[in-house]
Amino acid sequence: MRQPAPARSLHFRITAAFVLLLAVGGGGYYLWLERTLYAPYDDAEEKHWYEELAAAELDSLAAVLAPLAAEPGRAGPLLQDYGRGVARYEAELIVFDAAGRHAASSAADSLAAAVPFADPALLRDMSSADWDFGSYPRAEDVSAYENRVFAVRPLVPAGGDEAAPAGYLVASFMPPTIAVGELEADARRMGLHAALLLLLYAAASSTIIMLWTTRRLRRLSRGVAAFAAGDLGARVPASSADEIGSLGRHINTMAQRIAGMVDELTRKESFQRQLVANVSHDLRTPLASLRGYVETLSLGGAQVGEQERGRYLAVVTEKLDHLDRLIEHVLILSRMDSGQAGFRPEDFSLGELAGTVLDRCAQPAADRAVSLDLDLDPDLPDVHADPLQIGRVLQNLVENGVKFTPAGGRVAVRARRVGAKVEVEVADTGVGIDPRDLPHIFERFYTGDKSRTVADAGPADHLSRSSGLGLAIAARIVEVHGARLEVQSAPGAGSVF
Ligand code: ADP
Repeated sequence: MRQPAPARSLHFRITAAFVLLLAVGGGGYYLWLERTLYAPYDDAEEKHWYEELAAAELDSLAAVLAPLAAEPGRAGPLLQDYGRGVARYEAELIVFDAAGRHAASSAADSLAAAVPFADPALLRDMSSADWDFGSYPRAEDVSAYENRVFAVRPLVPAGGDEAAPAGYLVASFMPPTIAVGELEADARRMGLHAALLLLLYAAASSTIIMLWTTRRLRRLSRGVAAFAAGDLGARVPASSADEIGSLGRHINTMAQRIAGMVDELTRKESFQRQLVANVSHDLRTPLASLRGYVETLSLGGAQVGEQERGRYLAVVTEKLDHLDRLIEHVLILSRMDSGQAGFRPEDFSLGELAGTVLDRCAQPAADRAVSLDLDLDPDLPDVHADPLQIGRVLQNLVENGVKFTPAGGRVAVRARRVGAKVEVEVADTGVGIDPRDLPHIFERFYTGDKSRTVADAGPADHLSRSSGLGLAIAARIVEVHGARLEVQSAPGAGSVF
């Protein structure tokens, strides 16, 4: 079996399909994660918190802290209390006094060390209503506070001067993130999702691949089943270059061969049936007349005269000859059909063989006043063939020529060298063959349309009887030798084989 190119093999295709599907699935899952996980809190929520909730909360905190601005000892615990309550939104609250010094902080590990002092002017600016709420301080000012969002409220005790706050409450927020616990829960849930999704995805991918593969196998199977059910014309799809395609091609080749064999068997069987039918028919007629003659002869001397007895016996002998010949022809054909003809090729001179055949036919030809000719190329090479079989062919052709040529005619055997081969012609000046018979004369038992065949007025020798098998056998023998028996003939113009 010829292997398909590696890139077109089923193995490669299945792997590639699986990898492709996995890539598509993995990519899709990643995009889904991007959308759902990494953007859980959208900007609207963030904005709402900063601008409304945080602002309100800061305002109320500032009101509480204002009286304590000058008392870091009391503001500190309050802020830290508050800081512990801030879970979802990480925020740090710092109180600076009027001079910008760090006074208290919501976290124990406050950034007080990093920012011990804030410019009161900046704090005042930041606390004004038109300060851009989302502004970030310049990185070089407070690098520790990079990426944070700040909100500042002036702390003005009741009755105090608005223009000179007692201090400032600064809230610094990290942009919203998820609390650690929540993150872990989310991660666990996602891990579970991912595992489930991957499982489903792998199942779906392999199902798709197997569907694709089994669909093709099912089509193969349907074709084979149809063939097995008797539809010898059924073939399977075999256009693909991979293993399944190759299997399909092998199945089709096999189907072709089986169909050919069935054809051949059917043809042979019908030949055999025809042979038996024809042989039975051809045997019955001479047997019936033989029986008549034998019965007459058995009546004894009183009824049958000496002269008559001699004539009857001659007819009986002639009919027996014919039967013998018919049976011999049938045996030859059936041996050739079953491949048991046992051809024994050797090198021999065709000229000599033709001479022998003409000698054998000399008597019947003389009886019919038909002359025989032999015309050979002087440089005729030896041929490699079975001399017995080729002799049979030549004898049949010459006998036919003699049989179908009226008195005074001629039958010639010519042999010429054509390249490395020898071409043999048997030509007669006889009655010729009707164009309607011509295509059939090599068929078994074909003896021509009797109404068209010129009545054979010659002597009653073995040539006067026809079996319709001679040319069929001759053509087969020539065919087995790798050559072809052809004929040219026209009514009244003789025949050339
Ligand atoms: P048979 O000679 O026993 O009838 P063949 O197979 O040899 O059988 O020939 C088949 C038929 O072909 C003959 O019956 C005859 O009609 C025709 N035929 C063969 N050879 C010749 C020929 N040389 N001239 C005219 N007809 C021929």
